[in-house]
Amino acid sequence: MSKKSVDLAQKDLEHIWHPCTQMKDYEKLPLIPIKKGKGIYLYDYDDNKYIDSISSWWVNIFGHSNEYINQKLKEQVDNLEQVILTCFTHEPIVKLSKRLVDITPKGLEKVFYADNGSSAVEVALKMSYQYHKNRGETRPYFLSLENGYHGETIGALSVSDVGLYKDTFDTILLKTLQVPVPKDQSDEAAHEAASELEEILIEHSYKISAFILEPLIQCAGSMHMYSPLYLKLARELCSEYEIHLIADEIASGFGRTGTMFGVNQANITPDFMTLSKGLTGGYLPLSCVLTTNAIYDAFYCDYNEQKAFLHSHSFTGNPLSCSVANATLDIFERDDVINENKKLSAYIGKKLNMFKELINVENIRQLGMVAAFDIKGYKPEDRIGLKVFDYALERGVFLRPLGNVVYFMPPYVITYDEIDTMMDVAYDAIKSLHL
Ligand code: PMP
Repeated sequence: MSKKSVDLAQKDLEHIWHPCTQMKDYEKLPLIPIKKGKGIYLYDYDDNKYIDSISSWWVNIFGHSNEYINQKLKEQVDNLEQVILTCFTHEPIVKLSKRLVDITPKGLEKVFYADNGSSAVEVALKMSYQYHKNRGETRPYFLSLENGYHGETIGALSVSDVGLYKDTFDTILLKTLQVPVPKDQSDEAAHEAASELEEILIEHSYKISAFILEPLIQCAGSMHMYSPLYLKLARELCSEYEIHLIADEIASGFGRTGTMFGVNQANITPDFMTLSKGLTGGYLPLSCVLTTNAIYDAFYCDYNEQKAFLHSHSFTGNPLSCSVANATLDIFERDDVINENKKLSAYIGKKLNMFKELINVENIRQLGMVAAFDIKGYKPEDRIGLKVFDYALERGVFLRPLGNVVYFMPPYVITYDEIDTMMDVAYDAIKSLHL
């Protein structure tokens, strides 16, 4: 490792507390200072390059340092970098909001902004709760899917169900109920889970504000996938029992599932939809919640009636973030991305078949631009994912397994040859575990 790398890594550990990490791990696992990114590659100070197989936590959809997005960001920074969004507005946000309304399901007409995924989830939960309150009802519970993940602020964590993140904070969370997620992608599993959802609603709907779910794929929940039929049934049940449906498309949105949004595959309109990550092409923090005019109207009245939604963040609707979000949507239109991705995902699917040969691999699955499988026969304390990570990194591929789940979620600008490299290295990594 170059002197520069060693120096940066040492200075980092003097002051920086990294996310989602046992910091003691860095005694054995050296940090890698990244000098630059270009396309699907990350470069270190020793001129090693790594394929970013997970789009830097599922955000970077059109590659690092994308020329078009860079240009739009530079143009914006010379005009307006930030402005308070009460009293003022700006062109990038006006343009973006109309475009988001146009590409999301019919009926979502209003956009409220925040600056990260968890905050968007907080906004949706609070809005739903206050909607009922503004109409004279108190509904303190939220309903969510088992194995779900919606972020790590207190509200978002409350509706999540990943014990690793949640258990420690159990006593300080919001009131929630959980229902089983369909156990696989079959229609039968969707029907089974929907009838369990109905049982809960029959008994508890009067005290529930909203049901939140991740459409089609629970990413942090080990890339668990389920049928669009469940979304359709859940939509019908939420309408029948008069609770809101929140579609958290923070990870599934912007083409990841093969359609622009996961809910498109069920042809439904949720009452709220949360977006972030790919919204800015993974460049800058931005998130938003889309909702209907009917919900918006429940907050619209004279000031003294005190029904306004009083929620804000300093960087709500930042112009730089909005301008890169507009650039991202330009690329979707210009390059017909959703259709082009079909070819890429078909190729990934074909390639995925080779993992069937490996005796320690099971549950191979794919949805659009996400592919995953489980490594079997290991206990959590074996930290098998770390071994796969190490092996692949040495060969120029950045994989970050979730426990024993290896997955691929690359930027959409990956080529066929690069898919080969990414998946061949993963194959060799799994094979090496036998040795
Ligand atoms: N919802 C989903 C479905 C997510 O995958 C994530 C992040 N992985 C979040 C919410 C939280 O977003 P953020 O990390 O930006 O707070």
